[in-house]
Amino acid sequence: MLLITRDSELQRAACSALEDALKRTHIEKQKAIARFDEDYANLLLGCESVAHALLAELNMWLLLKEEKPDEAWNHLVDAQMASIYAARAHDGFRHLEHHHQRLEAIEHLVFPRQVFVSSGMLVGFQECSICRRDYDGCEHLVGRPYMGQFCYIIARDIDLDHVAIVEHPADKRCRVERFNAEGGTRNRMTWKIEPDATDA
Ligand SMILES: [Zn+2]
Repeated sequence: MLLITRDSELQRAACSALEDALKRTHIEKQKAIARFDEDYANLLLGCESVAHALLAELNMWLLLKEEKPDEAWNHLVDAQMASIYAARAHDGFRHLEHHHQRLEAIEHLVFPRQVFVSSGMLVGFQECSICRRDYDGCEHLVGRPYMGQFCYIIARDIDLDHVAIVEHPADKRCRVERFNAEGGTRNRMTWKIEPDATDA
C-alpha cells in the first residue's frame, strides 16, 4: 500500500487496521510495564513506532493525491522520525534504518528542495520526561527508550533568541512555506501564487 498508485480506499482501510494494531499494542505495552518487563515494553514501543511510520507514510500518499503537498510533507517528516525512533527502541528494529533511507529518497524525488529554518531558544529549565528532574543532573539520555517510553526534554521558561536558515534542521517541518511574489505569496511546494488573505 506504500505507493502513490494504490487505491485510496484500500489505503484508508490499511490506516484503520494500523490504528487497531496501535491500540492493541498500547494495551500490551501497559501490561509489560506493570510487570517491569523493560525489554518487552521497549520491543512494543518499537512496534508502535513502526505502526506510526507506516500510518504517516500512507497519509502522505493520500494527501498528495488530494493535492495537499504541505500537509503531506508533515506526514513524510513524521514517518522519517518514527522510523528512526523504531530503530532506537529495540535492537529487533535495527533493519528500519533501510526503511528510513527509502523515506529520505522519497523526500528528494517526490518533493522540491526545501529551505529549512531553525530557531535558537533560551531555555530556563530542561526537565527530563522520564524522571521529571533536571536533565543535566539525571542519568537518562534523550532518544533512548526506558520501560517502553522514549526520553525527551521538556523545556520550561522558553525565550526565542534567533531564527536562522539551516541545511540540517532538528525538525524538517520548520521550513519556508511561502515567499512574497507579485500579487500575493508564492507557495514553495505548488509554486502557485496565492493572494494575500488581507486582499480578499
Ligand atoms: Zn531523567
